Amino acid sequence: MNGFVLQNNKNIWYGSFAAFDALGFGNAFSCRLHGESALISGGLNLALHVGDEAGLVLKNRRAYAAAFGLDAGKFTCCEQVHGSNVAVVVEALAGKGAEAYSDAVKNTDALVTNLPQLPLMLFFADCVPVIFADPVSGSIGLAHAGWRGTVAGIAASTVTKMQEAFGAKPENILAGIGPSIGQCCYEVDDKVFEAGKKYAGCFTAKENGRYMADLQAWNRLALLDAGLLPQNIYNAGICTQCSKELFFSYRAENGKTGRMGVTIWKK
Ligand SMILES: [Zn+2]
Repeated sequence: MNGFVLQNNKNIWYGSFAAFDALGFGNAFSCRLHGESALISGGLNLALHVGDEAGLVLKNRRAYAAAFGLDAGKFTCCEQVHGSNVAVVVEALAGKGAEAYSDAVKNTDALVTNLPQLPLMLFFADCVPVIFADPVSGSIGLAHAGWRGTVAGIAASTVTKMQEAFGAKPENILAGIGPSIGQCCYEVDDKVFEAGKKYAGCFTAKENGRYMADLQAWNRLALLDAGLLPQNIYNAGICTQCSKELFFSYRAENGKTGRMGVTIWKK
């Protein structure tokens, strides 16, 4: 069961986990269709740090926000440096990075908050997005887990921060693993395998000495180790490289591509 549904509002296509919505947590994983971008013709690039024209990116963000009745000026973003720092978003941080990448929360790869109508937003092209919501404490989280962040334990660190800041209990937390590069397409070297050996089952050895790595499964196992219940972890099960017509894929497009926006907000 994944409960991940592709749909559109006002011509903005996105995927969303129904289980989160049902509990009052809006969430969206944007597709690349129907935007304005100088970098990707007709693409909905939502990231300011990838060499696109800022004015067009901001226009895309406004269209994306409008599809959900959100205020684009409140999108709260962080730098995404493939680390494991998690920031608690208080009112003073609302809207950081909404207009300029230089203003995003520094040296941070995950955000948590308990403030309503404050959309957290991070950007992805193959790295694993993980959204979190705890219906009991009313807190949410969003993490950026590429292989380095996964090795650094960013998903578990987000759970810990929700515990510390909001008293969230792991057994109540829902997690949703979004579209990201799948094991079918993600070849890595032995450096990544060595770093991830604790979860060796997430790697398949190849004859060339390299491995096919399953970052989605690796994050799922890390979440189970952090105390989440199996039935509360959802996985969209979509590979961005296999679905590159729908989602941006860094590997499929040799690094020259846009980013999907992943957003979660407490209604
Ligand atoms: Zn694939």
